[in-house]
Amino acid sequence: MRVVIFSEDEQFFNASAGLAQSLNADEIIGVGLKESKAVKEMILIDKLDEDGIVDLITKTSPQLAIFGNTRRDRIIASRVAGKLKGAIVTDVLSLKLQGEKIEAERVAYSGMGIAVVEASLPSVITLASTKYQPRELEDVKVQKVNLPEGRVRVVEKKESGSGSSNLLNAQIIVSIGRGIGSKENIKYAEELANALKAGLGGSRPITAELKWLPEDRQIGLSGLKVKPKLYIALGISGQPQHIAGIRDSRLIVAVNKDKNAPIRDYADYLVIADCVEFCKALVRRINKGGGGKLLI
Ligand SMILES: Cc1cc2nc3c(=O)[nH]c(=O)nc-3n(C[C@H](O)[C@H](O)[C@H](O)COP(=O)(O)OP(=O)(O)OC[C@H]3O[C@@H](n4cnc5c(N)ncnc54)[C@H](O)[C@@H]3O)c2cc1C
Repeated sequence: MRVVIFSEDEQFFNASAGLAQSLNADEIIGVGLKESKAVKEMILIDKLDEDGIVDLITKTSPQLAIFGNTRRDRIIASRVAGKLKGAIVTDVLSLKLQGEKIEAERVAYSGMGIAVVEASLPSVITLASTKYQPRELEDVKVQKVNLPEGRVRVVEKKESGSGSSNLLNAQIIVSIGRGIGSKENIKYAEELANALKAGLGGSRPITAELKWLPEDRQIGLSGLKVKPKLYIALGISGQPQHIAGIRDSRLIVAVNKDKNAPIRDYADYLVIADCVEFCKALVRRINKGGGGKLLI
């Protein structure tokens, strides 16, 4: 079976290669900017042009094309599926080959459930998990391809200034929900974020509805999917649409006045407290120094 993989993200590229290896595919072709030893054949492209990548992958006539989960990965995946007239299965967690079909487990209901779906080959999938790890292969064939100039050109790049990229890479995130109470109270969360060298994010009511934070700091199903080592949720109830963006966090600490808030089912620690008082007390404690040590 010929499997072609593409992701602009190295972690997803490796996971896609790991999945292809686990299927014992005899041809595993990677497409990307950098050489990789996780595939049997590497097509090195000179730029990340979507039109060019779609045409290139379609021409290789894969039975299975595996993509990562970045925005660009998903756009290219859907276009390749259209050109191949194949099925597309998104947000795949795991995959098995059943003769001429694939059986995939995929994220459903904002991550609250798992759906098992079948599709016939050729198929295209986007991978939501990075659990597959590839082994290094020997004698990787490398081919260089210069893609033609695409129809879409980047004419300028600007910083958004509000730090969504900081949140994606943040080790610690302090996140506020409606329980913060008022726009004025956000300064206490900011002080805590500064003391912890953390990023500051928020739930949808805070960003999209109340506009107390820029919308690109929204965390959740329709916002950013973050994976910090520590996520501190201040006054966030824990609806599935918010949880969808934080379930990959290593440790979740929720601060809520309500001991029955749904976030208790996802949090590693639930602090029953007023979130503003919590911020003030923790900042005081951090500024006092000595004693405690942040072990993350
Ligand atoms: C299609 C769709 C997409 C969505 N996408 C997103 C998304 O990407 N991200 C997102 O966040 N939501 C999203 N939502 C909205 C989501 O369903 C919830 O409405 C939202 O997450 C609730 O935000 P919240 O927890 O801040 O507010 P609330 O649900 O109002 O919760 C406030 C919490 O604060 C607690 N509280 C109150 N006062 C205090 C205090 N002083 N101290 C401590 N705790 C206090 C309360 O007990 C409560 O638990 C989406 C909804 C839909 C339909």
